[in-house]
Amino acid sequence: MSKKIARTNRRTKATKEKKAAEKELSAKIALFSDLTTECLVCQAPFDKTNKEQVTTWSVIVRKAEDKVNLYCPECWTKALGLVQEYLAQTRTPAAEPADVEEMDNDAAV
Ligand SMILES: [Zn+2]
Repeated sequence: MSKKIARTNRRTKATKEKKAAEKELSAKIALFSDLTTECLVCQAPFDKTNKEQVTTWSVIVRKAEDKVNLYCPECWTKALGLVQEYLAQTRTPAAEPADVEEMDNDAAV
């Protein structure tokens, strides 16, 4: 009985979150409506009336500069890959072998 109520509540919450996300998205679209119409990196044309593009492209709002940067999914994935590569290179790998050793000891006990 109580299970059913819990499920209903969860669904209501999901709908609310979805609506909030849609609201945020339209606010972003309003921001770049006339300014940005192409990918910042590859200049691929962005169609704000295309719902698929609106949901898959990444919009970075830089309030300090009053600028909106737009990335197509392809360039966004590449950008994320570069960031991860950079982080992997700068990370110090010293702790890792010690951690593995400790895990082995625990397993033996
Ligand atoms: Zn691009």
